[in-house]
Amino acid sequence: MTIIYNSAHIRHETGNHVENPRRIEVIREFFASRGIWQSLRVIPGRVAERSEIEAIHSRDYLSGLAEFCRRGGGYLNLDTVVGPASLQVALEAVGSVLRAIDETVVTGGPVFALVRPPGHHAEHDQAMGFCLLNNIAIGARYAQKVHGIEKILIVDWDVHHGNGTQEAFYQDPSVLFFSIHQSPLYPGSGLIEEIGEKRGVGHTVNCPVPVGSGDETLRLLVEELLFPLADRFRPELILVSCGLDAHWADPIAGLAVTELGFGFIASAVKKLASDYCNGRLVGSLEGGYHLGCLPNTFLSVVREWWAELSGEEVELTIKKPLLDRGVSIVTERIGQTRKLLAPYWRL
Ligand SMILES: [Zn+2]
Repeated sequence: MTIIYNSAHIRHETGNHVENPRRIEVIREFFASRGIWQSLRVIPGRVAERSEIEAIHSRDYLSGLAEFCRRGGGYLNLDTVVGPASLQVALEAVGSVLRAIDETVVTGGPVFALVRPPGHHAEHDQAMGFCLLNNIAIGARYAQKVHGIEKILIVDWDVHHGNGTQEAFYQDPSVLFFSIHQSPLYPGSGLIEEIGEKRGVGHTVNCPVPVGSGDETLRLLVEELLFPLADRFRPELILVSCGLDAHWADPIAGLAVTELGFGFIASAVKKLASDYCNGRLVGSLEGGYHLGCLPNTFLSVVREWWAELSGEEVELTIKKPLLDRGVSIVTERIGQTRKLLAPYWRL
């Protein structure tokens, strides 16, 4: 399996911030200590072109961001901080996702872009929630333009709603955006009633879940909504906004997902990619902030994507199953979502 990784992400310096270079480096060090890193195919990304970025972001936003970094950086808003090299690193993060898309098209197997800064909150003309450029959204447009892929499924299982990605494709029926996220939580969007508009209506599917939701809630949403939707939509490529912050120990969110839940949803998208997309599947790192739990959680995902890792043990950070507080509320919401989507999909 191919991982796109470039140590240059370290130059996106954020100071004393949860989104910092250690997040990726603890994963790399853990994988190296177990001999896994050496057996993966690890290749660098590239620097995304301005024209590729402008498929999603405004020229004004980009030039403003470039100027802000050139002057040394600082806080762009309450939570997003940049340094002098941050725009360059963000262009490399996007370029890594683009490279991952090239790879999966050629190999027909999963590819993971281990990148930061994350991307799914970044909107057309603003940075948000630690995100500068919307890696996944730019990737989807690139796949359509360069590889002629028409229909793309984006699965966003970061604990926060991917508002930027939703915005990018809200009126676009060629991209089905499926998001599972804690609600209420930052950024506050992602209600089930947000289902897209104009030609894109029915192609945004939001699954807000209450605090304390865990593995069983994920399973319900995947089996009751994601599987039937994918079967009707028939994507040609699946992109995953792979946040690891739904983990029960994550310091900035409140879900109760374990390594088993991450493994389950990772295997689910792999199955969808094999069934509909000739195996074409790209994951891109979004959030995930518990440095101690990140390596095993990431392993629980890539172990499902690369058969040769199936013998690798994932350490369960909690031994007995957690009480899943989301099941009854989410069961009800699945019914509501089916009703909202009924004019557009026979689920
Ligand atoms: Zn997140």
